[in-house]
Amino acid sequence: MSDPSQRCTASGHEIPELDPRTRCPQCGGLLEIRHAPPGVSGAALRRLFDERGGGGGTGPHASGVWRFREIVLPTAADAILTYPEGNTPLLARRAVAEWVGAPGLLLKHEGHNPTGSFKDRGMTVGVTQARRVGATAVACASTGNTGAALAAYAALAGLPALVIVPKGQVALGKLAQALAYGARTLVVAGNFDRCLELADQASVELGVYLLNSINPFRLEGQKTIVLEALQQLGWEPPDWIVVPAGNLGNTAAFGKALTEAREWGLVARLPRIAAVQAAGAAPFALSFREGFARRHRVEPRTLATAINVGNPASYDRAVRAIRETDGVVIAVPDDEILEAKAVVDAAGVGCEPASAASVAGARQLIRAGTVRPGDRIVAVLTGHLLKDPAAVTHYHQEIEPPPPRANRPVEIEPRLSDIAKQLTAARLPAS
Ligand SMILES: *Cc1c(COP(=O)(O)O)cnc(C)c1O
Ligand SMILES: [Zn+2]
Repeated sequence: MSDPSQRCTASGHEIPELDPRTRCPQCGGLLEIRHAPPGVSGAALRRLFDERGGGGGTGPHASGVWRFREIVLPTAADAILTYPEGNTPLLARRAVAEWVGAPGLLLKHEGHNPTGSFKDRGMTVGVTQARRVGATAVACASTGNTGAALAAYAALAGLPALVIVPKGQVALGKLAQALAYGARTLVVAGNFDRCLELADQASVELGVYLLNSINPFRLEGQKTIVLEALQQLGWEPPDWIVVPAGNLGNTAAFGKALTEAREWGLVARLPRIAAVQAAGAAPFALSFREGFARRHRVEPRTLATAINVGNPASYDRAVRAIRETDGVVIAVPDDEILEAKAVVDAAGVGCEPASAASVAGARQLIRAGTVRPGDRIVAVLTGHLLKDPAAVTHYHQEIEPPPPRANRPVEIEPRLSDIAKQLTAARLPAS
C-alpha cells in the first residue's frame, strides 16, 4: 500500500504526507488527502471494518475513527493518539420524528464523543498528525468545540495548545473545557472569521501546527461520522444525511467519505447531503440558490454559536460535496432551531443549538416536498446539550412571553400539598 499524499484542490500541486504546511505552498489553496485504494474493497472491506466491532477492547480499533484507519490515515500505525472517540449512537425517537414529519428519521448523536462534539473525530487524526510531523505547538481558532477538542487531545499528546476564540461568542461549557484541559485560551475582540485569519497567520509565521478544519487530516477523521452511520445501517445507505453547516468542514468531509465509499465498494449508491445553515449566517445557502455562481461573505448573526460563521473556509470543498451527492443547502431561522432543540431535548436526547439545525432543516425539507415523508433520513446532532447551558435557561426561563415549549421552574412553599398540586400538572402529557 503506498502512502497518502496531500493535493491542492485548486492547482493540483502535491506535497508529501508529512509536510506540516496546511495550505498549498504554491497557491495557498486547500489541501486534500489522496489515498491509494485500500488493499481490499467491497464486501471484504466491509467485513474488515465489521469484525473490529463497535467500541470493544483497548487498542486503536476501539475507536470509531481508527476502526476505519485504512481509509482515514493508514500510515499512522504506532503514532495513533486516541481517547477513544466515536462509537456514537444512532437513535430513533418518535417525538422528534413526528415533529419533523418523517417516521423513519434517525439521529446520529455526536454529542456522545469524549468532549461532547464531533470535533473529537477530527482532532484524534489532527493531533496524531501533529505528532508525526514533529510539531512543537498546536493552535486553532474556534467558536468553542474545536478549542475544547484541541485542548483535550493536546493534553493527551503532551503538546502546548493555543485556542483563539471570539470574545463573548463562546458558549460556557466550551470555554470551561478549553480552560480545564489546559489550553492557553486567547480571547479576541472580533468574530470567528477574524480569529481564523489570525490562526492561519500564526501557523505560517510562528510555525505552530494549525488544527482548524482547513487542515485536511481533520476532515479524514470527520469522514467517520458517515462511515460509522453507514456501518450501523448494515451498509444500506439512507436517502438523506442532514448536517448543520458553519465553516463547512463537515459538509466537505461527508462528501469525501461518500464518494470514496462508493469508489471502494462499501456502498452501491449515495445518500443526498442536506447542509443546513442558520438564516443569520447562511452564505453557503445564498450561493446554492444562485447555482454556486459566486462565493458570499456575510456578517454572521445566530444564537447557534457553533455555526456563526460568515466566510466558511471549506467553501470549495463543500460545493463539490453538494454537487457530487446531488445535495441541497438550506437556511432555517433561529426560532425554528430553538423549537427543534426543545423537541430534541424534551425527547430526553438533548443537543446544543447548532445541532438542532439539522432537525429543523429536515422538517423544512419535508414541508417543501424536497424530502418525502417515507425517505430514510439521518440527521446529525453535532454537540451535547450541556455545551450551552445559557441557551437552555434563556429559552425556558427568560423569553417573554414564554415560547410554547418553555418548561418554567415552579417555586413552591415547603409543604406536601404544593407538591401534590404540581404532580397533577406534571402528569399532563407534554405538548
Ligand atoms: C463545528 C460545529 C458545527 C459546524 O461544523 P462545520 O464543519 O464548521 O460546518 C456544527 N455544530 C457543532 C456543535 C459544531 O461544534
Ligand atoms: Zn495550489
